[in-house]
Amino acid sequence: MTNYGRQSINQNDIDAVVQVLQSDFLTQGPAVPAFESALCAYTGAAYCTAVSNATSALHLACLALGVGYGDRVWTSPISFVASANCARYCGAQIDFVDIELETGLMSIHALRDKLEFAASIQQLPKVVIPVHYAGQSCDMRELYKLSKRYDFSIIEDASHALGAQYLQHKVGGAEYSDAVVFSFHPVKMITTGEGGAITTRRLDVDEKVKHLRSHGIKKGNDIDEPWRQDQVALGFNYRLSDMQCALGISQLARLDAFVEKRTQIAKIYEASLPLETITVLTRRDNQISSLHLYPILSKDAIFRKKLYFYLKGYGINAQVHYCPIHRHTYYIDHLKEYYEQLHQQKKGYSKQFEVYEQAEAFYNRVLSLPIYPDLAPERVSEIIDCISHCR
Ligand SMILES: *Cc1c(COP(=O)(O)O)cnc(C)c1O
Repeated sequence: MTNYGRQSINQNDIDAVVQVLQSDFLTQGPAVPAFESALCAYTGAAYCTAVSNATSALHLACLALGVGYGDRVWTSPISFVASANCARYCGAQIDFVDIELETGLMSIHALRDKLEFAASIQQLPKVVIPVHYAGQSCDMRELYKLSKRYDFSIIEDASHALGAQYLQHKVGGAEYSDAVVFSFHPVKMITTGEGGAITTRRLDVDEKVKHLRSHGIKKGNDIDEPWRQDQVALGFNYRLSDMQCALGISQLARLDAFVEKRTQIAKIYEASLPLETITVLTRRDNQISSLHLYPILSKDAIFRKKLYFYLKGYGINAQVHYCPIHRHTYYIDHLKEYYEQLHQQKKGYSKQFEVYEQAEAFYNRVLSLPIYPDLAPERVSEIIDCISHCR
């Protein structure tokens, strides 16, 4: 069975974890800050906090930026549900911005229009969460300009994009955002089993997420009561362990080689996929995608379905990324309530911003083909042959 993605673990990775198992600390020893420093060095970020997964990273980033009850957070509908759930954990309202069909990324035009309209009815978002879909960065410079004009913060959901570059800089440096979130789930660019991280250039954001990662407890420095700890905020146990961070350090050293392998596979696909039935996604200038996914657009929804089952018959597990978030039962109910409220409160509220036409079109046609570092080029050729024979 060939899946759309999988981890690559070598002997160095295994040795790194075993070394921690034989050391004094299984968790919260030296490997955690060492992994955080390595991520800073790699991405160019000023600060980094390793956490239990990208979902908790998104939650803490929202809290650090002050998201709370009554606030609005906007994200892309073509993403994993975690990109939206983080706002709901904080009691905020979620809303979506349509995407561009050619890349699957949040459309800057759609965002600009929606912001202009939201400003006119006093419904501007507190935070916007662009998603670097498949490993290609959103147009962060334009997003940043809009954030200054309309006064919102930005969390980059870079769960797919560790190792990617935008305008000659590695994703994660947070040049155009307040925080960047990464995932180290086994299908992502590097793995720690479960794991995630938040990078930022803002000291205040870093202090908040580090504090909330471990129960909101401050270590005391009272000489009379040196044992004393004080919980000053309602935090969580979102820590990552030393075992995981040791694996992360070892994996991070292999990241550029991973991106290179994925790039070679993408080149084979791009050179040989049958263009009568398949369109490849557009890669923007001034960018290097990490190629976490290799999504293609089939000519129509019927062909996508046919291709999905055809490939499955040959042991190839393609996958659809993603069922739009607004189509999940929870969000259908949630959005219905929100829009009804808006219609009652705001005369002339336009339904134009409740539909995501490009996201729907994308969802109907998209299919992620296998891509991962250990996928053999011969297997890629077999997959292409298979696609060419599917009619
Ligand atoms: C995987 C993923 C997440 C969640 O990552 P976890 O580490 O599994 O919590 C969030 N956003 C996107 C876009 C993802 O692909």
